[in-house]
Amino acid sequence: MKRYIMHVDMDAFFASVEQVDNPELRGKPVIVGGDKARGVVCTASYEARKYGVHSAMPGIQAKRLCPQGIFLPVRHERYKQVSAEIFTIFAEFSPKVEPLSIDEAFLDISGMDKIYKSINSCARQLKERILLQTGIHASIGVAPNKFLAKIASDLKKPDGLVIIRHGQEQSSIAQLPLGKLWGVGQKTALKLHNMGYRQVKDILQGNINSLKNALGEKTAVHLWQLAQGIDEREVESSHIAKSIGNEETYAEDISGEEIVMEKFLHLAEKVGWRLRQKQIKARTISIKARTDDFTTYTRSITLPESTDFDSVLYKTAQTLFKQLPVLNKIRLLGLTGSNFTEPAEMSLFNDVSKIKQEKLYKAIDSLKNKFGENIITKAKLINRQKKDDYS
Ligand SMILES: [Mg+2]
Repeated sequence: MKRYIMHVDMDAFFASVEQVDNPELRGKPVIVGGDKARGVVCTASYEARKYGVHSAMPGIQAKRLCPQGIFLPVRHERYKQVSAEIFTIFAEFSPKVEPLSIDEAFLDISGMDKIYKSINSCARQLKERILLQTGIHASIGVAPNKFLAKIASDLKKPDGLVIIRHGQEQSSIAQLPLGKLWGVGQKTALKLHNMGYRQVKDILQGNINSLKNALGEKTAVHLWQLAQGIDEREVESSHIAKSIGNEETYAEDISGEEIVMEKFLHLAEKVGWRLRQKQIKARTISIKARTDDFTTYTRSITLPESTDFDSVLYKTAQTLFKQLPVLNKIRLLGLTGSNFTEPAEMSLFNDVSKIKQEKLYKAIDSLKNKFGENIITKAKLINRQKKDDYS
């Protein structure tokens, strides 16, 4: 299996959130931060960037460059909420997610072409999911390693998608300025410039020994490798997930119990599959429903016994949904499992019927692993009869 790493970076994140929350700001030069005396710009919308405004610029300078700019205070709590939604989506696309900041992460998507048909379609679907759910564009780079993925996500910002394939590592970065190399600061850049190097390819065309003399052994070898597009670092998911959940935002609002239950069945299959992949079981099941006016309803329950069965997740979602007031025009549904149990704890409760079910899920999962996650889900949704299995 070939390694593919994705770098996702939200476009002008803080400014975009402001533009989503207040439609009057769309298409206008929005500058978040720098509103107070001696303040510094946190994020400028692309409309403001046209005037030369960028992050870390003193607010006074930004005002001079873009007097018509709309300066807004930083609303960290709100950005954190949106960030949490984005990271929930990331977790649906990869079990290995490494956050870099509030709006940026590496995802190891090796092997995901089986589930999403291709690397390209995986990236497109992720972009669409984020846009549909949050209203914000993301730029994505996919490459054989972290270094190239990060470079790729930046190449076509905003709303960019660039894929660097295996075999294109070296050629994809040959023409780039040296400052793009990870670890090349102003000082190193100046030294390289003095050696006559301008582009990444100049390093490879030069002599490794003169590079070592100028920069020292360690930096020289590091740059020599990067210039060839080599980077062995793994995606490191820094924390063990406390919950596993899936959310779906619908292109058109949905209503009616039957349709809602069909969606929950789909969500239960996704969450169940992910739990089994991670070999954990959840005791607490939660649902989320958001209506067209963005009111969000949640309900959760702790079961007597932990589960990773689609059928139990689905039935629980059904029970929880019935506790909500009657909702029309639902734009989002979510299902989450949390409160995980240790594997040792599980075996104590095994009985014959459960062992049978476990075998069934093992068979389903091996098919899913072979042919992609959707193969069985789709069949089940098309064939309504099968739904009776769950009721
Ligand atoms: Mg960003």
